Amino acid sequence: MTIATGTVPTGAGVCLTPPPIPLLDLKAQYLGLRDEISQALHEVAHSSTYVLGPRVKEFEKAFAAHVGARHCIGVNSGTSALHLALIAAGVGPGDEVITVPMTFIATTWAISYVGATPVMVDVDPVTYTMDVDQVERKINSRTKAILPVHLYGQPAAMGPLLKLGRRHGIPVIEDAAQAHGARYQDAGAGTLGHSGCFSFYPGKNLGAYGEAGAIVTHDDQIAARLRSLRDHAQSQRYHHDEIGFNYRMDAFQGAILGIKLRYLEAWTEARRRLAASYLDRLADAPLQLPTEALDRRHVWHLFVVLHPERDRLRDALEARGIGTGLHYPVPVHLQKAFAHLGHHEGDFPVSERIARECLTLPLYPEMTEAQQERVVEALRAVFREEQV
Ligand SMILES: *Cc1c(COP(=O)(O)O)cnc(C)c1O
Repeated sequence: MTIATGTVPTGAGVCLTPPPIPLLDLKAQYLGLRDEISQALHEVAHSSTYVLGPRVKEFEKAFAAHVGARHCIGVNSGTSALHLALIAAGVGPGDEVITVPMTFIATTWAISYVGATPVMVDVDPVTYTMDVDQVERKINSRTKAILPVHLYGQPAAMGPLLKLGRRHGIPVIEDAAQAHGARYQDAGAGTLGHSGCFSFYPGKNLGAYGEAGAIVTHDDQIAARLRSLRDHAQSQRYHHDEIGFNYRMDAFQGAILGIKLRYLEAWTEARRRLAASYLDRLADAPLQLPTEALDRRHVWHLFVVLHPERDRLRDALEARGIGTGLHYPVPVHLQKAFAHLGHHEGDFPVSERIARECLTLPLYPEMTEAQQERVVEALRAVFREEQV
């Protein structure tokens, strides 16, 4: 990979301005895979099988093996994966699903799509995943699923959650959209519960060049139902057994994902090295740093720090050419779309604090040490010079 450097002319003459560091650089990864991807795309075009087909099947098999599940069902987005997983778990109108307000909105969309009501519990202040101690008192006869989110790439406390689910006969469905290759103890994220949902949106740790997602499960019957549901619920052509969906994965995405999956483990290791380096070098900074729980493998989809003056810090970094992100600035319970749930500010203080203070620093597998050094130096300069 090459990094553009050089002189940038300014009005007053010529000065050396290093290029900005983006939050994420998808092009760098593409350039490293260009030939393989081009060939696969030509093959798909030539095959004239553009939806599902052998490339999707191969990818499903490889992804199931990679995470350690019996089955993988490729679909057209992570949102669709969550929707179908809830249907397959028997969740429907009038039911309740326990989830968290600190997530990407799609987790909660899926609950609404099946006509169920999202019931929120706050996240843990250390791991930022579902606070298990708050779950039991939200369980009642309408509760039909628990839907934790492996936020930023770290699995939720699946052991205690599964135990609770078993005790009450409630399935646990994992939103693993940010956690490809993460582990809880020895088990792959997505493989511990009833089913696990992944997104292959381009910016995810395993990203397609368009929309894609998948559900993984160990259960043969659930897998068969999911395969049917994603493809118009056809038992045979033009015979439809129940209300189905067009949620199929397209063949170009399957081909690209099949190639990229071979690199996922190396990319994850690169993410883990970069995260360890940030944690080491920012240990003295006035920031709340993320942590990796002892029994979990974090895959660092996002490296999120907390700071009470987040907006000022973000502007100061921006002025120094450092791109940052906000994941997520408005928790789900305070979104207008979920006003009907009747929540107020103060209901989920940990999620609200994360929303106010979160700042995502650049981290992607192709990031060089020199690039990371610039992010760390920029942060140090901001804390030294700007009383942030
Ligand atoms: C990305 C994401 C989704 C949705 O996936 P899409 O492929 O964008 O539909 C769901 N949940 C979480 C936590 C996500 O990060």
